[in-house]
Amino acid sequence: MERKQFALGDVVEMKKPHPCGTNAWKVIRMGMDIRMKCTGCGHSVLLPRSRFEKRMKRVLQRSPQDENRAGGV
Ligand SMILES: [Zn+2]
Repeated sequence: MERKQFALGDVVEMKKPHPCGTNAWKVIRMGMDIRMKCTGCGHSVLLPRSRFEKRMKRVLQRSPQDENRAGGV
């Protein structure tokens, strides 16, 4: 199973979809907390990194500007 790796600009799927029905979130800020934005309605949420990692299911779309990531896709 793939490790949970994510980077700024990635679009990720969470265990629970947003109430708007979309389950694709774009990571727009990384740090101690992760800010992600719903690609459906534009709503943004701030989550502590640990919680984000628990809720995240997988990466849907790798950020194109992150081609240097070790391991590749
Ligand atoms: Zn939404």
